[in-house]
Amino acid sequence: MNSAAYVGRFAPSPTGPLHLGSLVAAVASWLDARAAGGRWLVRMEDLDRPRCEPGAADIILRQLEAYGLHWDGAVLVQSQRDEAYAEALATLQKLGAVYPCACTRSQLAQASRNHEDEIVYPGACRNGLPAGAIARAWRVRVPDVDTRFHDRIHGDLQQNLAHEVGDFIVRRADGLFAYQLAVVVDDAFQDIIHVVRGADLLWNTPRQIYLQTLLGLPMPVYAHVPLITNAAGQKLSKQTLAPALPGTGRSAVLAQALAALGHPPVAELAGATPAEQLAWAAAHWKIENVPIQPMVANPVQAPDNLP
Ligand code: GLU
Repeated sequence: MNSAAYVGRFAPSPTGPLHLGSLVAAVASWLDARAAGGRWLVRMEDLDRPRCEPGAADIILRQLEAYGLHWDGAVLVQSQRDEAYAEALATLQKLGAVYPCACTRSQLAQASRNHEDEIVYPGACRNGLPAGAIARAWRVRVPDVDTRFHDRIHGDLQQNLAHEVGDFIVRRADGLFAYQLAVVVDDAFQDIIHVVRGADLLWNTPRQIYLQTLLGLPMPVYAHVPLITNAAGQKLSKQTLAPALPGTGRSAVLAQALAALGHPPVAELAGATPAEQLAWAAAHWKIENVPIQPMVANPVQAPDNLP
């Protein structure tokens, strides 16, 4: 495969430093790209301004460098891309594919939830706003059909967006563009061919495929890698107080990330640097060896000197 045939990316949200779970997504997307001789881009998904932490974007980039995860080209920053998202929303408006919604969080509190515990929008504003109601968000109207897609790790999947998600938000009540819209606009803008990311986003994929269809954008190939959980079985995240990657002992941490991806380093790599471990893993990378099951993290020591 030559480099034009593979463009991948890592798209962290700078809500805090990387933890073992986000490192696994970074390593998987890097290895898949490098094993194919492809390009690997980084996109800073700082769209949700209230959730972003000042300085986190820089820390993440320094952490990637410290692990030998070097990227190609300039980092794309979502907070500088509002114009592109506004244009996509305008296209959807012209198509009549979106409508304004006045529902508040509390009005939707009783709505049914899907297996990801997300609210399935019941369609209250689908046929027009109630008299006197004020538009808050924009939602895309979804069809009552199965969206089918292939994941390189999870196989053939399908989801009926109408039953399992409902009309979903593309512009939020606070005026910010939604992740689902930004991600498809940016994946197309960056000519991404392969999306390799955490399995927490597996069931976001049909929403993104549907937006790609509406906007006439190419569909990348998807692979969703296993999540890392804490001992209580919760996904490592800022909410579950996942520790940041430690500033020392990186080879041991990377070995854990590689094991989670079904590529535990061989004994001869004991004492190897992260760059040497990554070179070995890229040479031996087989996506079919990546497990579906999440892995429980070994306790990682508290960060001392980030990154
Ligand atoms: N920014 C998202 C996250 O950190 C990832 C988005 C993606 O890979 O599509 O969870």
